[in-house]
Amino acid sequence: MKRVLLKLSGEALAGDKKTGFDEPTVTAVARQVKELVDDGLEVGIVIGGGNFWRGRSSEKIDRTKADQIGMLATVMNCIYVSEIFRSVGMKTKVLTPFACGAFTELFSKDLVNECFSKGMVTFYAGGTGHPYFSTDTATVLRAIEIEADVILLAKSIDAVYDSDPKVNPNAKKYDEVSIQEVIDKKLGVVDMAASILCMENKMPMLVFGLNEENSIVETVKGNFKGTRVTV
Ligand code: UDP
Repeated sequence: MKRVLLKLSGEALAGDKKTGFDEPTVTAVARQVKELVDDGLEVGIVIGGGNFWRGRSSEKIDRTKADQIGMLATVMNCIYVSEIFRSVGMKTKVLTPFACGAFTELFSKDLVNECFSKGMVTFYAGGTGHPYFSTDTATVLRAIEIEADVILLAKSIDAVYDSDPKVNPNAKKYDEVSIQEVIDKKLGVVDMAASILCMENKMPMLVFGLNEENSIVETVKGNFKGTRVTV
């Protein structure tokens, strides 16, 4: 692996509180990413917004506006996580698909390559910039655009299962599953639009638990305990 796209769910950032930020959780992520960056890995990051807001959070307001709030939530998450990364000694840049004044810079592949050549971690905030999409779609889109080798999907669950292990104690864990099977069986690894994008552009994914000890580093170093999604 030379270049990876790490997706962190917004909820995972919140720890047990489920909302806002849990600083020890984010600092632990930062320390792991630093170890990888110090070894020469190029890391791009997409963060969800579920710790603040989802487009589906309100049925009263217009969905487009609700989704805009969701996209802004991901900008807040990226600014926060970027600052925690800086506090442990990394260089970072937050990029968005829309202008956010002086808060971020506009995403472009050229700028990403420039940042990587300077040893920076790049954050892709604001999703795709369009309503009715998700940060899953943004994750796959950015991974394809920056020519990442793989997507590292750090979730609150440790792997892909055939049913919810919290509900079904006999749920079967997949060590490996094809993206076609993810689509056919609606396994919900990433949403349908993102799954199709993954399949069409042959972008593999490694799914693992963010809360497992040192899981990002172990995954990159090949000591992988989650689910490999093949294309
Ligand atoms: N969102 C959007 N377009 C995007 C990415 C995100 O409209 O390209 C909005 C959407 O409202 C979503 C929220 O931002 O609910 C948070 O993103 P996330 O992917 O975490 O949401 P989820 O998939 O959990 O709804």
